Parts: sequence; structure tokens; C-alpha cells
Amino acid sequence: MNNNHKWGSSGEKRTITWEYEPPPELLQYLKDMQEALRYALQAAYLKATRNKQHKIPSPIELRRMIKEWFYSRYQYARHHINPVCKSAVALLKSYRKNHHGQLRIPTVKKLAVRIDAELFKLVEGQLRVTLQPFSYAWIPVNTVHKRYKDYCHGRVSEVLLTERKVCLTFVIGSGNKPLGARFVACDLNFTTIDSTTAVKDAQGTVHLEAASTEPLHRITQIQNVFSRRRRRLQLHIPNPQKRARKLRETRNRQRHRVIDALHKLTTQTVRKNQDTAFIFERLTGIRKNGRREANRGKKFRTQLNRWPYRLYQRLVEYKSSQRTLYVNPRGTSSRCPVCGENLKHPAWGISSCETCGVDYHRDRLASLAILCGGLRLCGSPFTVSADASWPMLKNEYLYAGGAPDAARAGWTEPANAPNGNAV
Ligand SMILES: [Zn+2]
Repeated sequence: MNNNHKWGSSGEKRTITWEYEPPPELLQYLKDMQEALRYALQAAYLKATRNKQHKIPSPIELRRMIKEWFYSRYQYARHHINPVCKSAVALLKSYRKNHHGQLRIPTVKKLAVRIDAELFKLVEGQLRVTLQPFSYAWIPVNTVHKRYKDYCHGRVSEVLLTERKVCLTFVIGSGNKPLGARFVACDLNFTTIDSTTAVKDAQGTVHLEAASTEPLHRITQIQNVFSRRRRRLQLHIPNPQKRARKLRETRNRQRHRVIDALHKLTTQTVRKNQDTAFIFERLTGIRKNGRREANRGKKFRTQLNRWPYRLYQRLVEYKSSQRTLYVNPRGTSSRCPVCGENLKHPAWGISSCETCGVDYHRDRLASLAILCGGLRLCGSPFTVSADASWPMLKNEYLYAGGAPDAARAGWTEPANAPNGNAV
């Protein structure tokens, strides 16, 4: 896993560089920041040499140490202290690394400041750098740069200013990918991925195409096996240090196996759905809230934590040629996507709608709701009941006594139970 960053971040970075003549206020700013950097380096160095472990302070600690000096000396927006502290810490660390662990204050020769996106903005072909609140320095962007057109749709992430050059970095992410006519909305569950496929025709009307449920045997199997193994270790190794080490090893091994399985699974999924935009629920904060599975006890929560939903989404987003959409998870399993009525959940896996008068398969219905949310997001709202394909597909969404997901049987048992159900 050396190339974590590729799918770890939300996009790849691209930089364009051009030469410029800094306006006088910007030149003064660069000089001031050079001075501030020297001061910060000194402060960080003193701090590091005065404690026993020679620990270099973090940028945040350093900011606490020098902020009074900084704010009383300069009139710049307060954010400007952040890049100074970050560079000081980075410089000290790299100095120590390059000098066999010895620490000295590196000399600052260049006039260079790296500032992040909160302090500058691209405004109509110009780079607007906020020096003080509502007071800006303007730098014309080299819009004829041969790469500018490709990158400018991306998000700006940072800019490096020297007295001669500007290096502007963009994050080009999946936001740049095209949005085609085929959509797959996925509801990620413990043992299955339930999805609904829809296609937009030439007139721009959306039709449902299929509903499907994909079992996740491989991942649950890995997790069951490792969880049993850990339990055994816990019981049978008396030495606490050794036990901790063994447990750590097992956890890492499990993680690698799960990541590997996820890679295979997502590659397969993306290959099966070429030129398809995937729609997921936005997951931020879900583990805290426990989503709809709240209050189900500790074992249940452990399982929620072990299935890396977000990683699955990231891998799909990275591998897919089309844009990936994220919808607000609110209501995806509590409101009926067909009629808008509130759903009841009389039993595990059932979403019952009184207005429609039927019991739906909960997870498939959720994927339908996610689809509607995604289509709304990209400006082509979709009404399920008005769609001609709905009567034909409706059966696919009805609850059939657990038939589509026999795999679920036995899942809610503790993970350390005999491994009869998996494979
Ligand atoms: Zn309904």
C-alpha cells in the first residue's frame, strides 16, 4: 500500500508555475514572513533543545508560543501565522533528518511563503491574496499556461509565492469527471450491497433498469476469522506485552486482507458498470450517530466499525471514470421514495409503507431513495411512481421473507460464533 495517497485524498495535485513581478505590498509581506519564519525557527529550536527528548513542537504548539509576538508585530490577517509555523516545523524536521539527528537552526535565505486556500482565491483570472481582512494583493494568473485550462476546474489547494515565481496547486478530483447517462445507487450494508440502476434516455428522461443485491461474503468471512483469532489470543497469551503485540499484528493483517478484498470487489463493480455514475450516502459523522442501526448494542457497533464503508466508496470513486455523487443520508430509510410517506420497520429488513400498502425490502428501497437523491443532486429529479418501468420493477423491491438476502441469516450472531454461515 505505497500509493495510499492516490485514493486516500479526494484528488490528485497539479501545479502550474509562472514568473511575476510582486507588487510592493506583497514584497513587503514576503520579507515580513521571512523574518517571522526566522523568529519561529528560533522559538521552536529553543523549545526542542530545552526538553529532554528533543521533541520539536507541533505547528499548533509553536503558534501558541509565538502568536503574541506575531499579532503585535504585524497587521496581517491572523491566519498568516499558520504557514509560518508549518514551515518552521517542517524545516527543523528536515534539517535534523539530513544531519543525522543533530539539530541547529537552519538559515532562511529565500523569500518564500506557502499559503493555503483560506488566504487566497482565484477571482476572474487573478490571484487574490488576503493580506489583511478586506485588503488584498492581486497577482495576474498566467491563464495562457498550457495546462491552466485542464486544471482550472479543480479546487485550488495552495500557492507558493517567492519574489520571482508563483506556484499554484490545484486538486483535480472526481469533480472533474464527466456525468453520463447511467447511474447506480448503492446502499452499503453489513452483509450486502443493495443497488438500483437507472438510465437516462436521449430525451433526458430517467428510467429504472434493475435492482440487485450483492453479498459481501468475502469481507464478513475475513472479519469473522480474525475476530475469532483475536479472541483466542486474548484468552491464551498470559504475557500482556506479548498479547498486545500479537493483537496488533492480527489487526494489521486483518486490515490488509480487508483492503485487498475491497480492492478486488470495487474493481469488479466498476468494471461491471462502465461509464456509470455511482451514488452513495454521504457518511461523515455516521459512526458517531450509528445511523439507523443506533442502540443495537456493543457487538453491533463493533461490526459497524469493521466494515470500511468509506474506503469502499473512495475506491469506487477513484476507479470509476464517471463522477461519484454523495447524497444526504437523512430519510433514505425512513421515507418512502415512492410516495414520500414515513416508513415503518416492523421487523428486521422490512420497510412497511401504509400509503403504498406493501412491505418493501428495506435495503433495496433505501438504494432507490439514494438514487432519487442523487438524481435530484444532478438536476434531473425523478419520480418513482411516474416512471413507466416502476410497475415492472416493483416486485424487486418487495419484501419476500428475506429471500434476496438469505446470507443475512445468522449474521447478527456474535462474530466469534462458529463459522458456518460464511463462504
Ligand atoms: Zn410508499
